[in-house]
Amino acid sequence: SLYQTGDAPKPRYVRVNTLKLDIGSAMLELEKLTKVQKDGLLPDLLILPAGTDLHDHPLVLNGSVFLQGKASCMVAAALCPEPGWVVLDACSAPGNKTVHLAALMRDKGKIIACELNKQRVHRLEDTIRLSGASNIHVVHGDFLNLTPSVHPYNKVRAILLDPSCSGSGTSAERLDHLLPSYTTGLAADGTEIARLSKLAAFQKKALSHALTFPAVERVVYSTCSIHQIENEDVVQSILPLAASHGFRLAAPLSQWTRRGLPVFEGTEKLLRTDPVEDKEGFFIALFVKEHVDRNRGI
Ligand code: SAM
Repeated sequence: SLYQTGDAPKPRYVRVNTLKLDIGSAMLELEKLTKVQKDGLLPDLLILPAGTDLHDHPLVLNGSVFLQGKASCMVAAALCPEPGWVVLDACSAPGNKTVHLAALMRDKGKIIACELNKQRVHRLEDTIRLSGASNIHVVHGDFLNLTPSVHPYNKVRAILLDPSCSGSGTSAERLDHLLPSYTTGLAADGTEIARLSKLAAFQKKALSHALTFPAVERVVYSTCSIHQIENEDVVQSILPLAASHGFRLAAPLSQWTRRGLPVFEGTEKLLRTDPVEDKEGFFIALFVKEHVDRNRGI
């Protein structure tokens, strides 16, 4: 495979669940096993040597650390929710990002975790239980059917939208298949184009819906896809609506140098991770509404 030859192996990333264990103690514990480094970008992320097998380590089994990749951890970090806020995770199962949000909020405030698929709701509930978070309320339903003007949705300050996508950024098989055209998504295969268009249509609908919640100040849109059609194109199509609601694009994790494909003005605000060099292809867009000073009624 083109994606394995000559590449350094993927390190084992570990997110410390700071609801259960502090970072220093996690490092001490894991250093008994192997070499441990702190990630330079995300303070709750540790880097272990490639191939470190942790799946039955006590810290993993008791939810003190989560085996979560760096790109996945960048998403909740990009939303940067404040403790005490009401936050909505629109498409949340299996819940890795949901419980990361809970840790960033120090279990203060409220997280509404919406998930459409019944089986996946069970997985979400397992993840929440393991994390020890007590501020997450699960809603089994369609995010598109949540009414933004109704309590508690009218209190939501931040939305994490990580909708169903092609997954093309995390599957080596698919990457090989789509290699000649992976930035455009225009693979030779017509069924693949049809599938991506259908996904993109849902992604646009969901992102439009997220921007209509009346108290929302921050919306993160993320995928684990490498296709422009699910990433930059979705964002570009939503920009007029976003502007009409007072949102602009902001640069999440500005130290990260790999940004969006330059297909419209402002894509340097978008964030990409590369499926080869960063080992996973993710995309993150952050919409922010200028702060409204409620006390002064502005
Ligand atoms: N954020 C999750 C995590 O990090 O663990 C992964 C989310 S996964 C990419 C997308 C999820 O959205 C799937 O579990 C899917 O069942 C769910 N989903 C799809 N359409 C939905 C909808 N209309 N409303 C709510 N959830 C939906």
